[in-house]
This record gives sequence, structure tokens and C-alpha cells, in this order.
Amino acid sequence: MTLPRHAWRGGVRVPRHKNLSNTEPSRAPPLPARLIYPLRSHIGTAARPVVGPGDRVLKGQCLAEPDSYVSQALHAATSGTVRDILDYPVAPGDVMTASIVIEVDGEDRGIDPWPSLPADADGDAIQRRLTEAGVIGMGGAGFPSHVKVREGLTRTVRTLIINGVECEPYITCDDRLMREHAAEIVAGARWLKRAVNAGECFIAVEEDMPEALAALQAHPAEGVTIGTVPAIYPAGGEKQLIKLLTGREVPSKGLPIQAGVLMHNVATARAVYAAVVEGRPLTSRYVTVTGGMTRPGNWRALIGTPVSHLLQEGGWRGGDQRVIMGGPMMGMALCSLEVPVTKVTNCLLVQEAAPAFLAAMPCIRCGECLRVCPVQLNARALYEYSKAGDLDAAQDLNLFDCIECGACAYVCPSHIPLVGYFRAAKAAIAAAERRQRAAAENRGRYERHQRRQAADQAGSATASPLPAAAGEDREALRAEIAAAVERVRARRAASEPPDGERGGPA
Ligand code: SF4
Ligand code: SF4
Repeated sequence: MTLPRHAWRGGVRVPRHKNLSNTEPSRAPPLPARLIYPLRSHIGTAARPVVGPGDRVLKGQCLAEPDSYVSQALHAATSGTVRDILDYPVAPGDVMTASIVIEVDGEDRGIDPWPSLPADADGDAIQRRLTEAGVIGMGGAGFPSHVKVREGLTRTVRTLIINGVECEPYITCDDRLMREHAAEIVAGARWLKRAVNAGECFIAVEEDMPEALAALQAHPAEGVTIGTVPAIYPAGGEKQLIKLLTGREVPSKGLPIQAGVLMHNVATARAVYAAVVEGRPLTSRYVTVTGGMTRPGNWRALIGTPVSHLLQEGGWRGGDQRVIMGGPMMGMALCSLEVPVTKVTNCLLVQEAAPAFLAAMPCIRCGECLRVCPVQLNARALYEYSKAGDLDAAQDLNLFDCIECGACAYVCPSHIPLVGYFRAAKAAIAAAERRQRAAAENRGRYERHQRRQAADQAGSATASPLPAAAGEDREALRAEIAAAVERVRARRAASEPPDGERGGPA
């Protein structure tokens, strides 16, 4: 059975550069001297540490627990001693983030795995196990998988998609993972399908990944369809793949579940299998280390490994080479090579030197950027509004639907760094919203303070010197003031001594 294909507009064919790193089997690097675990490196709130400096830890031991519903657990990837919990640079942007630092002891001693879940485990049990194991989306966004499963338990999932469409040039970690762990990926897909009672399940790879496809197809499973999609960038984007395979649109600012779809990356499916069947938390992942180095390839890296350690194993020469985390289209250049590999680090791309700077020319209104945009955005207008600082107009043109795929910048004959403008505009809007929220909170605090003061001065439940706040329920305000006055009276009564016991000057 082949995968369905629906019309999909946009996208570009880009040079692949995949065989630089996908021809050799994956390798395990030697243990690094230390591992770094940022408490926050994904969507959601920071994890809460359950270890402290000086604690001995074993492989698989929990280091930090989820601190809210959208949070993840972290586990030691090998044995050692917690050296400290301190601020450490984390990619992208080298943001200083509270992190647990472990000094590795080289003994690699571990705790016993959890028991496998029974074959008839229900969705709640699977969801709890994924929470416990710290499984998150390993395709880039890092959304906790247990939250997605919970969505699937409460809403109808018509289609579960396991995404092996690794469309960005140079990156081959999913390709190698599928070749080497196909059975586990298919089994993980079946667990996920059962957890959310999905109507159908597709495992999609690109049509130029014949080895990965053959490996997956060697493990046929009932209710799981394995097939290919065209090798067009960015066919692996969430909304694009949903459109391609189901014909359904995810609404603007919406989630896939609104189109009846849940999507997980192939690495996530394997992590689900490891958690549910092997009883192992998520402590390692495949990372492509490629580009200008002597031993490019894929490494089975422990989560927390410093990037510099992997680069050295790959034959990094240093000098004026620059390192991109991610691929050439969507990745970000690293400032520090001490940042750790996290659960979403898929690739380290070494470029010989900073590419020759091509000065941006004026827009010639050729319309190429509109033609390739997979979201059908008016990239040219977005650029003009972003450049002019007209952020409202940019938002009206659905700036936040831009997936920053870079296809528009790739084809722009004027070499305009379009994505840079879009990222800067999004950041400016986010900062303005943060400021607005802070101002609203301050205003609220000030108004509450004023009301308390007025209540204290009123001295009587009947007096109501306050003007009604805009849109506020006057009766509720009176009740609040009366209650405050009662509290003040009670407090005064409790603090005043009874008659006859008053002190004072003689
Ligand atoms: S591709 Fe570049 S030059 Fe052409 S319309 Fe878009 S921004 Fe302008
Ligand atoms: S970066 Fe944004 S605007 Fe440009 S092609 Fe991709 S989605 Fe469209």
C-alpha cells in the first residue's frame, strides 16, 4: 500500500549533500568528561532538579522532574557526580540557562530498567510512562510527547503520522536511525497508534531514502502504511506533510489535532518504544556531524555532551570554520562550542568559513519568494513591513505562520536575508507583548493597592468612595471593599487592649 498524495504548493529542490554523512553506520563517541543538562531547553516550563551538588548519579537516574504539565524529566546518560547547578550557555543564542553539570566517572554504571508495559496497557499508562521517561519531540520543536498523547486521548485522532521526511540538506540522523532501528520505530508507531486510538498510521520518508524505506518495509505492521513523499524542501514541515498526506489544512495558529492529526518524528517513535518496552528513559540520540571535517557521520551522542566533544571526534580542525546547529536552511550559527547536545539537536554542520557575504540588493519584485513559500505567505510584503517596523501590518499578513524554512531567501535573486527580517519582527512583537503583559500586571497591582487603601480609609462598609473601574462589576467591588473593611476592623480589635488596660502617659 502506498501513501496518499495530495496537492501541495511551494517548496524548492535544494542540493542534498546527504551522502557526506549517511554512508557509514552510526558511531558511539567516547564518554565526554562532563555532561550538561539545561533545565529548560524546549517548549514549556523548566524541570525541577531532584539532585544537588555532590550527589552520585547512575545512568538512567532521574535528575529533574517535570515542573508542570508542559515540562520534561531529565535523566543521567551515564554515571558520575553532580558538580554543580549553574547558569550555562544553551543553543540557540547561547542563552544562559540553569543547568545540572555532571562530572563523568567513566564507569557507566546504570540503574535497572523499568518493567515493560503490558501489551494491553491503555493510553493513560502509556502517557504516564512517556512523562516518566522524559520523551519529547526529537524532530525540532521539543514538545513533550505525553502532552501530545493526552491531546489524542481527549480528541479524535483520524491520522497518526510518523515523520521520517528529513528534507533539510546535510542532515541524515533520521535516515541512519531508520536504517539501523527500523523495527523499533515501527513498534513505537504501533504503541502510539494504540495509545490514541488513531484511525490510520502513516510512516513517511523521502523518495530518495531507499535504504531507510526498505528497512522499514521489512517490518510490516497491521494498520501502519509506510511510503515515500517527494524530496522537496520543506515537505517534512508539520503542516506541509499533513497537507500532503491527508489533504487537510491546519488552521492558522492552530494545532495538528484540529485537523484530526498527531505527528511524531521517527526518533520520537523509537524513544517511545525504548520507554514502553525496554523501560529506558531518553538519554541519547543520533546527531549528524558533517560538513568541513575529516570524519563526517552520525554519532550516537549522550544528551548533555558538549558540542566540542562531538566535533573533535568528527575531525574538526577549528580555525575559521563556523558551526551551525541544525541544517543550512533553518539552523543557527553557534557562538560557543561548549553548548550541550539536547534532545532536539539533530545536526552540527561545519562550514569551511563564513560564506562570502553577498550584499543585499533592492527587491526587484520578481515574485519568486511568493512562488516557493509553502505557507502561501506574501514574503515580499512581509519583508517590506518588517523592514519598515510596521509590525501590525506584518501580523495581519500572518507573520507568525512563517515556519522560517528559508525557501524564500534561498531563491531571492537580490540576496535579501528575508528570514532574518521575519525572525527580528517576531522577536520585536514578542518583546512588545511581554512589555504589555508586565504593564497590565503592574496596573492591576496598583489598582488593587488603591482599593485596599481606600477600604482602609473608609472605616465603614457603607462608604464607597471608589469610582467604578472600567467594566468592573460595582456590586462585586462593594462586597470586596466591605470584606476588606471587616478585616481591618477585626485586625484593630485584636490589636487594641481591653478598656481599662490601656497604657499611656501618667
Ligand atoms: S524574491 Fe527577493 S527580489 Fe524577488 S520579490 Fe521576493 S524579496 Fe523581492
Ligand atoms: S521562510 Fe516563511 S515566508 Fe519564507 S518561504 Fe518559508 S514560510 Fe514562507
